[in-house]
Amino acid sequence: MTFASTLPELSAQTGFALSPLDRMSEIREDKQALADMNAAAQTRFVVIGRDRPILKRVEGGYDPFFTAAEAATIGRQRETVLLGKREDGQALFAIVLDDSAVDIVEVADEGGLIDTRKFVVPGRNDLFVHDLRAMATEGTVPVDIIGILGQAKSIMHWHARHRFCSNCGSSSELAAAGWRRECRVCKAMHFPRTDPVVIMLAISGEDCLMGRAGRFGKHMYSALAGFLEPGETMEDAVRREIREESGIRVGRVAYLASQPWPFPASLMIGCVAEALNRDIVIDHNELEDCRWFSRRDVQMMLKREHPDGYTAPHPLAIAHHLLRAWSEGRTPKF
Ligand SMILES: [Zn+2]
Repeated sequence: MTFASTLPELSAQTGFALSPLDRMSEIREDKQALADMNAAAQTRFVVIGRDRPILKRVEGGYDPFFTAAEAATIGRQRETVLLGKREDGQALFAIVLDDSAVDIVEVADEGGLIDTRKFVVPGRNDLFVHDLRAMATEGTVPVDIIGILGQAKSIMHWHARHRFCSNCGSSSELAAAGWRRECRVCKAMHFPRTDPVVIMLAISGEDCLMGRAGRFGKHMYSALAGFLEPGETMEDAVRREIREESGIRVGRVAYLASQPWPFPASLMIGCVAEALNRDIVIDHNELEDCRWFSRRDVQMMLKREHPDGYTAPHPLAIAHHLLRAWSEGRTPKF
């Protein structure tokens, strides 16, 4: 899979980052304009059920864009959100269905990186309900479409879990074309969450630090990562997470790239960091293993040619791009 982009930054090469849409935030309060766009013949709808995009089976592949009439046949609809418009003026909305529209028919191992459970819309062999991460790695739809589906999945995950006001407990209502919820009782306004995660490579001379979580394959190593906490700078979070997971102290931190990660609604913030010591003390609650790898190791891991069978994450993940940039000498020098 290739991620073709004309944007100069590294972020644009990560999975879920590309989208052809203008989000049109300026018209979100204009109810008439929204109604006109919703009713326009060329408008299409992304349909989400139980946090998964629903696709139409079409000749030679899958189509995630439904007409309003097609979408109406799938199941009971809950919220509708404006995603944006394409350059040619076509508007795209997302619809989230009630959970009753989608059945889980096979509960498989959920412990891996990809959710392998099988979902169906009952009685509809013309539809395909698939995990978004699997769609991205399998190339089920083009990469810029994956970005649109990630946007839809994240915002609908939020709506499906925020139908009551977190301040007073009354039911809340959708506003601003789906980019806000409001409580009529206490007047509180609620906004969609994005959860920042730092993901980083500690660098010591010609080596970088990578770890392996238990859920990874036996030979896959990746960048360390963790959620940013309230009151922390990005740099503080990088230093804390590396210290906690590996015992390595960190000096300088430099930002490299970011990635929207719709599982369910994170922003991955990719950094490199200056390691101040080399003696690793693994936190076995977080990692099965953690070790230093050379640039040559990393280059072979990215190509899946390492003689010991070690591998690194898929190009879908920002970790892949951090590792590639470092192994090719394209990161700041400490
Ligand atoms: Zn309230």
